[in-house]
Amino acid sequence: MANKVLVLGEVREGALRNVSFEAIAAAKQIADGEVVGVLLGDSVANLAGELIAYGADRVVTVEHPHLKSYTSDGYSQAFLAVCEQEKPEGIILGHTSLGKDLSPKLASRLNSGLISDVTEIEGAGEDAVFIRPIYSGKAFEKVKIKEGIVFATIRPNNIKPLEKNASLTGDVASISVDVQNLRTIIKDVVRKASTGVDLSEAKIVVAGGRGVKSAEGFEPLKELANLLGGAVGASRGACDADYCDYSLQIGQTGKVVTPDLYIAAGISGAIQHLAGMSNSKVIVAINKDPEANIFKVADYGIVGDLFEVVPMLIEEFKAL
Ligand code: FAD
Repeated sequence: MANKVLVLGEVREGALRNVSFEAIAAAKQIADGEVVGVLLGDSVANLAGELIAYGADRVVTVEHPHLKSYTSDGYSQAFLAVCEQEKPEGIILGHTSLGKDLSPKLASRLNSGLISDVTEIEGAGEDAVFIRPIYSGKAFEKVKIKEGIVFATIRPNNIKPLEKNASLTGDVASISVDVQNLRTIIKDVVRKASTGVDLSEAKIVVAGGRGVKSAEGFEPLKELANLLGGAVGASRGACDADYCDYSLQIGQTGKVVTPDLYIAAGISGAIQHLAGMSNSKVIVAINKDPEANIFKVADYGIVGDLFEVVPMLIEEFKAL
């Protein structure tokens, strides 16, 4: 039974990440009572209306200069202060880099369990059952919390957000927390150049592997990703070979993605790579080896040289 469920609105560069809206939908499914959005930052109250438009009944904000950038110390102090006031019976966070770092700390302080990386919720209210991948995505387990706070992180791009309704209204209150004794303070954030589309939340991902053969070999993949409004990803093989940055790595030790379309070019399909992408809705694999493992998870397989196939795809999409 979760009478009140808190949802963290995750803010990046002044905007809410989509996973925040997906988390509200998940919270609505398990809540028997209200869903409360939580916003942490130095100036975030202006985003409260958007959480309400996506279904939060009300929003609590904590604003402090030390919350401008994420630190686990600062965010956990602020979130725990909200918990102290709200006494939630459920908590939902995105299974993002932030959520993966923050949630275990919160769960331990709240003395609760944690169901991480949830991809689906069956049933509703106290009958809700959480489904999450195990063994690198080879199997799924169903988990139900029997007592204590129902605390889960949800994998981005899996749970559908509710329809946005800008006419919804809800209370927005701020609580003051003296965020202090931080072991780390972020002085400056130096951003790496990126394609602009967030890999974790991209609807289309074009990923390259060792078969791409060089950093320059990634250029056609970048062109295809740009054309489709998607993001570029990579296997660890490609990252290890220095063809691209590790921030693009998808898999067990990289990012987990669930786009509508995943195009894998020159990727063999090692189990550790599949762990990060096999839940994608449609998978297209391009590989010159017809026996490549990636074809086992692919919806569409193209046996061929990626340096011939990718330019052909670019031409076809340009012609649409
Ligand atoms: P390869 O296995 O070398 O495959 C290259 C593929 O390209 C081949 O199938 C080949 O047929 C094809 N190819 C070559 N040339 C062409 C061409 N011109 N056109 C079309 N196809 C071509 N890997 C990850 O990806 N993500 C992880 O998070 C990850 N975590 C790991 C964690 C651990 C603990 C360990 C041990 C390994 C991990 N790995 C991970 C590594 C993983 O096991 C593989 O080594 C890696 O995924 C291989 O990358 P790849 O498919 O790009 O390279």
